[in-house]
Amino acid sequence: MLKLITTFAALALALLFSACTTVPVTGRKAMHIYPEGDLVRMAVSQFEELKKETPLSTDPELNARVQRVGQRIARVAAYDLPHAEWEFVVFDDPEQINAFAMPGGKVAVYTGLFKVAQTEADLAVVIGHEIAHVVARHASERVSQQILAAGGSLALAVGTSDMDAGQRRLILAGVGLGTTVGVMLPYSRLHESEADAIGILYSAEAGYDPRAAIGFWERMAAEKSDSPPEFLSTHPSDATRMRKLQTLMPEAVAIYEAGL
Ligand SMILES: [Zn+2]
Repeated sequence: MLKLITTFAALALALLFSACTTVPVTGRKAMHIYPEGDLVRMAVSQFEELKKETPLSTDPELNARVQRVGQRIARVAAYDLPHAEWEFVVFDDPEQINAFAMPGGKVAVYTGLFKVAQTEADLAVVIGHEIAHVVARHASERVSQQILAAGGSLALAVGTSDMDAGQRRLILAGVGLGTTVGVMLPYSRLHESEADAIGILYSAEAGYDPRAAIGFWERMAAEKSDSPPEFLSTHPSDATRMRKLQTLMPEAVAIYEAGL
């Protein structure tokens, strides 16, 4: 019983010192206890490593397309996340029908994705979704949830002490996150749906026809294989995803048409 009370007290303190934020666009409340600066620094260094390990596409047309779409949507997202340092790269791996984003604004698209993302509006669906994960700080929320689940005193230690980045990384490893998954954690279904919703509104505002999302996700669903892409791994069922997108579509189309 005493242990329980101690845990609750620690948890309450951790929550007190941690930041409760509001997710842009959706207005959902989210809890963050891991310092954002640490997470961004980790993400940046891991992204640098990934760029050394993975061949980059030398296709000038694909690179230009990703830069163009990325920058256009990033300009819209800047209202909600003004200090992001966006970087968009194309990894040369035709087998990977995938894309991912890391805290701070690092976004990668694999060449395999272009089998499904045939037009710029299709690409905007993916990049909008990835940018939305960054703006909504989903990775940070996942890390915070894992630490909170592991125990109140741990949360207190991470959230309030002036421990250094190295010590915090040890804690991530201790709750089974490691430093890599700490910034590339699989997202929950809630996060996937939220990224769909924010992404489609951003890309509509950036001038891309949001109706492309329907065909795009249908083609993605048809591509499902043994190793599901990031946005298929934990996503809501295809039917749920489509229903939610259809619900949002009138608003997204109105935003798109207002900008024409
Ligand atoms: Zn996603």
